[in-house]
Parts: sequence; C-alpha cells; structure tokens
Amino acid sequence: MAKKTDLIVVGAGPGGYTAAFLAADLGIKVMLIDESPRPGGVCLYRGCMPSKALLHVANVLTEARHANAWGVEFGEPKIDLERLRKWKDNVVTKLTGGLAQLAEQRSVDYLQGVATLVDAHTVSVAKSGSAVETVRFDHAILATGSRPVLPEALATKSDRVLDSTSALDLSRIPENLLVIGGGYIGLELGSVYAALGSEITVVEMTSGLLPGVDRDLVNVLSRRFGKIAKAVYMDTQVINLKPGKTGVEVVLDGPSIENRQHNFDMALVAVGRIPNSDTLGLDRTVVELDERGFVKVDSQRRTAEPSLFAIGDLVGEPMLAHKAFHEGRVAVEAITGLQTVFEPKAIPAVVFTDPEIAWCGLTETQAAKDQQLVSVARFPWAASGRALTLDRPDGLTKFIVDPNTEQVLGVGMVGSGAGELIAEGVVAIEMGATVSDLPLCIHPHPTLSETIFESAEVFLGRSTHVYRPKRK
Ligand code: NAD
Repeated sequence: MAKKTDLIVVGAGPGGYTAAFLAADLGIKVMLIDESPRPGGVCLYRGCMPSKALLHVANVLTEARHANAWGVEFGEPKIDLERLRKWKDNVVTKLTGGLAQLAEQRSVDYLQGVATLVDAHTVSVAKSGSAVETVRFDHAILATGSRPVLPEALATKSDRVLDSTSALDLSRIPENLLVIGGGYIGLELGSVYAALGSEITVVEMTSGLLPGVDRDLVNVLSRRFGKIAKAVYMDTQVINLKPGKTGVEVVLDGPSIENRQHNFDMALVAVGRIPNSDTLGLDRTVVELDERGFVKVDSQRRTAEPSLFAIGDLVGEPMLAHKAFHEGRVAVEAITGLQTVFEPKAIPAVVFTDPEIAWCGLTETQAAKDQQLVSVARFPWAASGRALTLDRPDGLTKFIVDPNTEQVLGVGMVGSGAGELIAEGVVAIEMGATVSDLPLCIHPHPTLSETIFESAEVFLGRSTHVYRPKRK
C-alpha cells in the first residue's frame, strides 16, 4: 500500500530541510526523504560545516605562527590528527542531531532511503536491504544538490587522490599536495592542508584564481597564496594523473611549466560540481533540464511539471546553501498559495580562505561584461585602525554604485572576517540604499565594519581616514 502525504521533499540538505520545516510549521503534512540517517546534506556532512571547523583550526595555527611578530612565541604546534578528526566529526554530529530533533518536534516524517520519481505524483524509495516504499504526494520539492565533477583525465580510484569529501576525512597530512582547481574548494581546503603542514601547489586552468570574482579582491588573496604555496600555476592543466605506490605522477601543461613531470604525495581534485538531476527519474515527468543538467524552474521554483518544485544546487548557480534556504521558503510559500517570488538583488558569496573574500550584488567584472556604467569606491584596510590592531591591513572594501541614482548595486570585500561583514552590504542593496545612507548609520568604533561606511565616504569624497580629491 502506498503511503500518502501532502508534500515530499527529496534531499535533506539546507534547502530541503528548510522547506520541510517551514511546510510543517504552516500545517502541511510533509515527508523528508534522504539517504542519510539524519538531515544535513552535503553542507553539514561533507561541505560547509566540517570545512569551516578545519578552517578555524587553520586560522588558529596561522595566527599562532604569526604571533612571533608581536613578541609572542608558541613554538611549533603538535597536531593530533585523531583528536582533530573527532572534534570536527562531533561538530557535524551535534548539528545533524539538532536537525533530527527539530524534524521530530515538528512531526516531519523522515524517511531514510533513495528516492526515484515514478510519475509526477508518486515516488519510490529504496531503503536499506531490498525494501522499497512507495509514496503518493500532491507536491514535491526536489533538493538533491550536486556532486563533484571528475573529468576523465583526473578520474582514478586511489586514496592518494582526494575530492572535497575525502579531503575532509583528514586520513593523513601529505608531505606535499597538488591542488587541482583554484576555486572555492581548492583554495579553502588547500589553505587547511597548508596550515597543517603540507607543501601545496595549486594548478588553475584559467588565467586567475576564483574566475569571475573581481581581480582587486582576488589579488590580495593571490599574494597570500604566493606565500603559503610552493607554486601557483595559472592557465595550466593536468593532462595526466597516475597514482602509484610512492605518490601521484602528474603531467602539467601550461605557459610557466618548465618541467612537465611532477610527483606529489597526494592530489586534491576540486574542479567544480554538477547537479544531481540524472538519478531522480525526471525522464518520467515533463521536467526540463538546461544544457548543464540544471532543472529549469520559474520564479517560484516550479518546474515544467506543475506538482514538482526544485531548489538549490539542482537548479543552478550560485551553488550556495543560503540560496537554497531562501528558495526552499519560496517554494513552500508558493505551494501554500502565498504570493511569493525568488528575486534576490544580492546573494552573498564568501570564500572562507585567509583572508576571506566576500561579495554581493553586482560585481565590477559583471558590470564590465554587461557594459554597464558604474562608479567604484575603495577603502583600503591599511587605513582602518581596527585592521592594524589585528595586524591585518591586507584588506579592501569596495562599493559598486549606480552613477546616476547613487544606489548601491554591489559590495565587495577581502580581509580577515569579510564573510561576517558582507551581510551589511546585502541589507543595503536589498533595502535600496543609496551610498549616502550608509554614513548616516553610526558604525561601532573600532571595528572592521567601519570600512563599509568609509568606502561610502570615499565615494562621496569625504572619508576621514583616507584623502581623495573631491568629486566634481
Ligand atoms: P569552482 O567552480 O569554485 O572552482 C573550480 C575551479 O577549477 C575553477 O577555477 C576552474 O577554472 C578550475 N578548473 C576546472 N577544470 C580544471 C582543470 N581540469 N584543471 C585545473 N583547473 C580546473 O568549484 P569548486 O571549488 O569545486 O566548488 C564547487 C562549488 O561549491 C562552488 O562553485 C561553490 O558554489 C560551492 N562551494 C561554496 C563554498 C562557499 O560558499 N564558501 C565552499 C565550497 C564550495
């Protein structure tokens, strides 16, 4: 006998569990389906949370080493990998345990198994062993996320070749590590391994780290990588990768590569992610995919099949948990008949390296691509008292402004803790603030948040802590 429910949510990551919890709060009978025993998804089990726990450790190690510049010596740290792993795993267990409890308190029916659509109102769920459960539903929200992409030249099964999941297992700290891909994951996890003592080499296919991100922000991080990495190769590809008993043999190809053959203790492949749209049984529905495999949705996250909604990494870039949170809410509101739409002006993005890079709204790069005229004002952190007290003058805050209306279109930052500060930029953009509104808001002194209104003041030609000639 098939079970019957109002709503199923497939995938219990940030988008899926947010949707399921809100639906339950709004009185909808909801079933949340995931292959893991508890909600959490990639973000909690194999992504955001464990990586941030390790990045915190990396930052502590870096600070401790740097402290000798201030006359404080800690000596070389001793790393107990077993305890470090346990601590990181405990963070994950606490978080997923908390979510399981919240699901139970809301009477969300949690079903562990792998879901495949049978038609637009039926799903079949393969549970452990050979048990299969069939569930009939009025609506479904698909939130199955994405997985790491593995190009053929890099596809190999070896414990010397890591992806973002196995890299978080910290099986050991390699003597040297080749990081393939200079994007979010390569740079975040590369920083972790560098801080733990690995000699890292980064290989990026395009001409710069973090393609698409404004170069003035990336340049600050690139300088840092120039110090913590043995080498960073741009416009370079790994054309062959062969794990052996003593290491991973690779052949590199790029303009600055003199010696093409290299041997690394381990390699980390972090060259992007693809949506999990191919295993869902979507071919039994009229749901449409784009050329990259993302599910096509409208502004309420409804697919071409009226009973099916899709959210998160499954529907496209940016593949960020907080975008999925918001989409999950919109989908549930649409299902309950509320007037709702997903049209954010500013989705923040944060690369949790040291220094962090964060931006929201329009970037200078995008404005140039669209030939949109913008004004840009920058405030260097070297002029921030707080940045100097932290010995972190290596930062920049900038505003991208509509030159006619003076409305804030984008905010970008690089610097220690930029990821926390960017939220103010999001509020400014979403509230339609003009650049003159920011100095009217008193910012606490001495904090890095002052760099936000100071860059607005730079635009207005009246920043106290930097001198810029007056705008005509
Ligand atoms: P990414 O798209 O951020 O970076 C991949 C990089 O690899 C790019 O710079 C690309 O040019 C390069 N590349 C591609 N093929 C290559 C090759 N053969 N050789 C060398 N370089 C190659 O992808 P990612 O780092 O795998 O992360 C995937 C997604 O996960 C991100 O886009 C992001 O949405 C999400 N993520 C977000 C965070 C965060 O919010 N802090 C952290 C991790 C991941």
